[in-house]
Amino acid sequence: MTQRRPLVAGNWKMHGLRKNLSEVSAICAAVAEGIAGDAEVLICPPATLLIAAARICEGSKVALGGQHCHEEPSGPFTGDLSAEMLKDAGATYVILGHSERRSGHHEGNHSVHEKTLGALRAGLTAIVCVGETKSEREAGDALRLVGSQLIGSIPKSASSESLVIAYEPVWAIGTGLTPTPEDIAEMHHFIRVQVNDILPGQGAALRILYGGSVKPGNAAKLLLVKDVDGALVGGASLNSSEFMGIAGIYREFVRTT
Ligand code: PEP
Repeated sequence: MTQRRPLVAGNWKMHGLRKNLSEVSAICAAVAEGIAGDAEVLICPPATLLIAAARICEGSKVALGGQHCHEEPSGPFTGDLSAEMLKDAGATYVILGHSERRSGHHEGNHSVHEKTLGALRAGLTAIVCVGETKSEREAGDALRLVGSQLIGSIPKSASSESLVIAYEPVWAIGTGLTPTPEDIAEMHHFIRVQVNDILPGQGAALRILYGGSVKPGNAAKLLLVKDVDGALVGGASLNSSEFMGIAGIYREFVRTT
């Protein structure tokens, strides 16, 4: 049986000033107390806070990540950040293909594929986001759409060590709406099978996160579902108590599937 270590990742999006670094300190303290059990806890703050957050997290078990990167290591790309820069600032992960980047910055699957290659080149673990819109789900097209995102976005050189998939139905992000546990289980199983086709032999150990309106009150219902290996959390990750309330479901938890 493959053991997958749960991952609870916080995506701060474009929120957070230096004064909010106290939340990072509080998360480090809670993790040190064992509140998240064996789960890995990751914070993806805005890039401006990475270096300061890295100082706070030094010596702790809390990991840091970026929210996006350019595919090239360096070059004339004003305003962009490379995976190497994120790594240099203290990140070990980077979120790629978030729906807000796919829609707001017109990032298609090919672009996500190239950025994922950039992340792997720099030695970052890529969290590649996939998920359908409300109309795609209502049209019965969710599995097909997510399948095409996976095929288009995942490079053949990725592995279950260097890649995490986050299933984030677009209609559930920041809305308070969530899929049923049955729908989540169906999609996560589908993703595992699809990724195993793309990366033969990697499916069993691949971590697949659920994201979309996860809160302390619904975390157990949404996350203690077969094939769900943690969460990508937006709004609730900005507050250390809420975030650790979510990670706290793993306190007594040992995954064996
Ligand atoms: C997200 O942005 O990745 C997300 C899941 O947001 P929220 O938890 O706020 O729905």
